[in-house]
Amino acid sequence: MEENILECVIVGSGPSGFTAAIYAARADLKPVLYTGLEPGGQLTTTTEVDNFPGYPEGITGPEMMMDLQKQAERFETKVLYEMITKAEFSQEVGGVHKLWAGNKEILAKSVIISTGATAKYLGLDDEKKYSGGGVSACATCDGFFYKGKDVVVVGAGDTAAEEATYLAKLTNKVTLLVRKDHFRASKAMMHRVNTTPNIEVRFNHELIGIEGENSLVERAVVINNLTQEKSTIAVHGIFIAIGHKPNTDIFKGQITLDENGYIVTEPGTTRTNLPGVFAAGDVQDHIYRQAITAAGSGCMAAMDAEKYLAELD
Ligand SMILES: Cc1cc2nc3c(=O)[nH]c(=O)nc-3n(C[C@H](O)[C@H](O)[C@H](O)COP(=O)(O)OP(=O)(O)OC[C@H]3O[C@@H](n4cnc5c(N)ncnc54)[C@H](O)[C@@H]3O)c2cc1C
Repeated sequence: MEENILECVIVGSGPSGFTAAIYAARADLKPVLYTGLEPGGQLTTTTEVDNFPGYPEGITGPEMMMDLQKQAERFETKVLYEMITKAEFSQEVGGVHKLWAGNKEILAKSVIISTGATAKYLGLDDEKKYSGGGVSACATCDGFFYKGKDVVVVGAGDTAAEEATYLAKLTNKVTLLVRKDHFRASKAMMHRVNTTPNIEVRFNHELIGIEGENSLVERAVVINNLTQEKSTIAVHGIFIAIGHKPNTDIFKGQITLDENGYIVTEPGTTRTNLPGVFAAGDVQDHIYRQAITAAGSGCMAAMDAEKYLAELD
């Protein structure tokens, strides 16, 4: 029986996956895209997307992702609503990569990994209740909505320090809640926080709840973990900045990851350490993490895959 070896398999259906699909399909690579458990990716969990070029009035995340999918399918991308559960990559140039969706084995000459990253939350019920009503994990995405208002940022590392200084430029006041009595952020970032007049740092403080009306944030409920004293801070936005987890568990031991689990790509390309395996979007980008940058790297991945396959022929 002749084995069906696909030219290009795309794992993930966020902006990077569908953009890779559009380019791969138009280059006649006949891509097959596996959506995973969150068809459309992270943007399907948000309402307004105001910063993706081409939508002058903004668009909702789910609508934008449906548009991207339609565009990918127009060029005959095959979209399968399945999750890739295992991978065995070839180390050889021209080798065949194996993926599994449950028991189904998939063979591919090239693979584009677009599995994204997931923001970490504290695990409070109120985070879910007020998601979309003032709780966010992305200052670049949502900071604009809090112009002139007061916000809280939770976290102690570089991400929290960056989010706090970014928000300080837009908002009236940022209260940064740090669980311990010190930062984990780099000295340079700490300096930026400490010299920004409208950031107040509260060490040994934790967010324990959120209060508001109609699912809109009005107050952060915090506790001083030294004195156990509880208090509230009147705010409109709460930014959880405790890091992201790249979705790379199934690739561990197969492909080079950095110390935080992000796929390492050659600078300026989407090439991984494995021939024929490319990575695009948030799964390989812990800095920008935007839909447009994910889409841009999806385009790069499809072009890198096309070049790789052309050179094999
Ligand atoms: C609430 C929220 C609001 C945001 N707002 C904005 C905004 O306004 N503007 C902006 O530019 N950015 C915004 N972002 C960031 C933006 O959503 C991400 O940067 C972007 O979605 C990353 O795209 P991606 O293609 O890397 O993957 P993701 O969107 O992270 O998608 C990952 C995909 O991989 C799939 N997947 C994972 N594992 C597997 C597997 N094993 N098998 C198959 N599939 C798998 C998932 O199902 C999903 O489809 C927001 C993010 C969030 C969470």
